[in-house]
Amino acid sequence: MKYTEKEVLQFVEENDVKFVKLMFCDIFGSLKTISVIAGELPKIFREGLIFDASKLGGFLNVTASDLRLFPDPDTLALLPWRPQHGRVVRFFCHLKYPDGTAFEGDGRFFLKTAIAYAKGKGYNFQIGTSCEFYCFEKDDTDMPTKRPHDYAGYCDAAPVDRGENLRRDICLTLEQMDIFPESSRHETGPGQNEIDFQYSNALKAADNLVTFKNVVKSVADRNGLYATFMPKPIVDNCGSGLHIMLMCMKGTENVFRPQLGGLSKEAERMIAGILKNVGDMTLFLNTTTNSYKRFGSLLAPKYISWSHENYAQLLRAPLADTDENGIILRSADNTCNPYFAMGLLIYACIDGVINKEELPKPFNFNIGSADESELAKLETLPQSLKEAVERAEKSEFLADRLPEHMLERFIAIEKELIIEYERAADKEQFETARYFY
Ligand code: GLU
Ligand code: MG
Repeated sequence: MKYTEKEVLQFVEENDVKFVKLMFCDIFGSLKTISVIAGELPKIFREGLIFDASKLGGFLNVTASDLRLFPDPDTLALLPWRPQHGRVVRFFCHLKYPDGTAFEGDGRFFLKTAIAYAKGKGYNFQIGTSCEFYCFEKDDTDMPTKRPHDYAGYCDAAPVDRGENLRRDICLTLEQMDIFPESSRHETGPGQNEIDFQYSNALKAADNLVTFKNVVKSVADRNGLYATFMPKPIVDNCGSGLHIMLMCMKGTENVFRPQLGGLSKEAERMIAGILKNVGDMTLFLNTTTNSYKRFGSLLAPKYISWSHENYAQLLRAPLADTDENGIILRSADNTCNPYFAMGLLIYACIDGVINKEELPKPFNFNIGSADESELAKLETLPQSLKEAVERAEKSEFLADRLPEHMLERFIAIEKELIIEYERAADKEQFETARYFY
């Protein structure tokens, strides 16, 4: 715990804070915010702030529309890009029904429940993320174009890389919010960038990711640019993924630290748990029609396979003899709600241990040049949003782990989206209107 409520009020007093942004995500992970005057905070800590949740797609039905926002004092952060006199702070909030029970569409609540469940089994998951995004230029009317900010490639240096100052600005802004990126670089696509974050506890990793995306958009805008996390903004060019790194502590031991040059049985079972359930949970890792255009090319996975070293696989489990060795899942993209995504991954790992899942053999060669007969033996990730919905509807894993109402709402909204997409005459235009802007 970083701040108590009392310390928060003192901070607000001492730092000339005039506005408070109460932030939360809808079930799709889109950031929502309501601003209040700082003087309201003591009352809001006591009673919460009521808002009409029925207006938010993917939240509630109209008959039970009121929810209350309770700021989580531990998430206090100044917004460095807002005025420095009469400053603005933000909190992530708990979402509750008027009677005080937790709202089942609250991803933070879901992830906290998963963390507590893991703790009950003796495990403490640490998560790192590696996040890709594109940067485009704007036109004279301040509207985004599809003209990339530069034509640099993987790890290119300035001046070919024109994103250097933008990434610097993003990283410095994050640092002011106590979020510490590990590295940043130009990615393979034109105008594509990547920023990576070290391990932190799962809730913080998800909060930081939501903050990061908001910072990227804000800083790009301040620099006259447009940043997008759309999974495949340019047809036939690299997609933008969200690679999730997972490490698991059991007491002081890292479950994924290699033993005698191999993985521990527990680590194998956790990986097997993910591989077994990843098809079912793909709907929650890749939530748009556009997400599925990324799979299967330019280093984005397609098959449910793993390897120690090969980057083209869905899951990589390096055998580095370090305290920080973990596994990397490469399929998710930034359309996911990170709280649900990370919570489901934790449950999948533990299910793997409980059910004593056996890890299939690694796939240690290049998927891109592999023999068709070898590839045919592998199961694939869902190849479309429609397939992902079908998998999710049949999934016992999701039915066991996700709140029923939330799962139903999510699937219902995704089905509507698929109908709209199928009706659209120009699919690319449909996705541009919906996910690019
Ligand atoms: N951009 C690729 C993706 O869609 C990954 C490239 C990389 O390995 O960083 O996941
Ligand atoms: Mg990358």
